[in-house]
Amino acid sequence: MKRRTFLRNTTLAALASPLARFGNSGLGRAAEPKRVAFGGIIIECSTYTPILTRMEEFHLWRGRQLGDMPFFSQLKTYPYPFHPTLFANAVPGGPVEAKTYQKLKAEFLERVKALLPLDGLYLVMHGAMSVEGMQDADGDWIASAREVVGKDCLLTASFDLHGSLSHRIIDNLDMLSAYRTAPHIDREATTQRACDMLVHCMDHGIRPTMVWSPIPVLMPGERSSTRYQPAKRLWGQLPAMNAHPGVLDASLLVGYVWADETKCTASAVLTGTDPARLKKDALSLAQQYWNARKEFQFGVPTGPLNEIIEKAVSLSTHPVVISDSGDNPTAGGTDDRADVLAELLKRHVRNAVIGGICDQPATDACYRAGVGATLPLNIGATLDPQASKPVHVKAKVRFLSHGDDPLGRQAVVETEGISVMMTERRRPFHHVHDFTSLGLDPTKFKIVVVKAGYLEPEINKIANPNLMALTEGAVNQDIVNIANKHRIPSYPFQPDLKWKPFVVVSARSPKKT
Ligand SMILES: [Zn+2]
Repeated sequence: MKRRTFLRNTTLAALASPLARFGNSGLGRAAEPKRVAFGGIIIECSTYTPILTRMEEFHLWRGRQLGDMPFFSQLKTYPYPFHPTLFANAVPGGPVEAKTYQKLKAEFLERVKALLPLDGLYLVMHGAMSVEGMQDADGDWIASAREVVGKDCLLTASFDLHGSLSHRIIDNLDMLSAYRTAPHIDREATTQRACDMLVHCMDHGIRPTMVWSPIPVLMPGERSSTRYQPAKRLWGQLPAMNAHPGVLDASLLVGYVWADETKCTASAVLTGTDPARLKKDALSLAQQYWNARKEFQFGVPTGPLNEIIEKAVSLSTHPVVISDSGDNPTAGGTDDRADVLAELLKRHVRNAVIGGICDQPATDACYRAGVGATLPLNIGATLDPQASKPVHVKAKVRFLSHGDDPLGRQAVVETEGISVMMTERRRPFHHVHDFTSLGLDPTKFKIVVVKAGYLEPEINKIANPNLMALTEGAVNQDIVNIANKHRIPSYPFQPDLKWKPFVVVSARSPKKT
């Protein structure tokens, strides 16, 4: 899963002392100035929604604007400049429209070309991008970058741990580093690991070895949060593994379950200079992951929507935070479903807030009516009218956001004791500020509904408790029943699958490996 906070919260720790892990990295010697560029594309795409992600849904940073992004300020602490190219980032959704992808890729490659010759390139990736009519789009982006920079340039990448790898990705990179936490609280640290490695290898003339073990297991993020076992112990061992001599990076990826593509698996991947050690550690991680496959469970109580609402109402605590997991926009959900609103109304539940539902027509109607007006509204099912039904209500407009909000227009309405936050653009409500900025205090409600899987730290802190509704949608948690045409045999789709770990060595690795 990707979170909007990717763009926020550059910590002092992340800025501290790059390259400290590698000791004398070349900072102290008269290293020849190197030419390095960075850029990339981050999106996570469910192939179970027909709604394509188009250009207007991407946030783009180019040139100096990208170089000035607070998130990438740590790149300025290296001994030579990292030249910005293009970085594209979108809320997860359906597959990227083919012409949008081609346009973004062409601009990225043009910008890289203009900076040649390059000694290094840092690619900021997610690993779960799907593109209309294409398999392994991340691999296509990376292979195209390799073609432009040539064989002598070192190529590093950072990945979301919900990304999937492929032969094409592995064979075109020299090194990679993936997040080690879900929720992702180590984005800056991952960027630092990926770039420390690059600078270290450039300064010391190292062409590292990369060893990959694809693991035929696919779990939704909700069953593999590093808050809970077995993910906590599997990912928890990576820092110690990373400290082994000859290891530059140890990464473990869950993969992405809602894309029906051949590359979708979990992965263990190690980068370093000691091929024997890397193979041993990759095989160990892969075997441990395989052995733990039946342990992955939801970390919070789950159930069908009606049962979860019944349970929430019966509790004496508040706010009970209900995750509407099937329509989670940060996993690729459409974000337009009103199923939970319908169920709350049906059960005459009061003192609840829904954050939120993407519905441009209803939002526009609220702006036309103005704060204080009461109007009839059809809420929901505007983006994918085939997948769900709207709910008809009479609602009072309580709040309208300023029109210049980069998240677009947002309206809060109240109907029968339920506050509904509606937006014209798809967006998550994963932070307390997301509610307070629209005039609502989530701690005051009996029930808070968020379109999410596992909760981000802030909302998790106020949840008393969190219950997960296994709702319908493009990221339905009932994964064994989703359509499966391209995926290779994997657990839990083939529950009796037999498997032994093996490793693939990157084609870029020195031949002696
Ligand atoms: Zn993720």
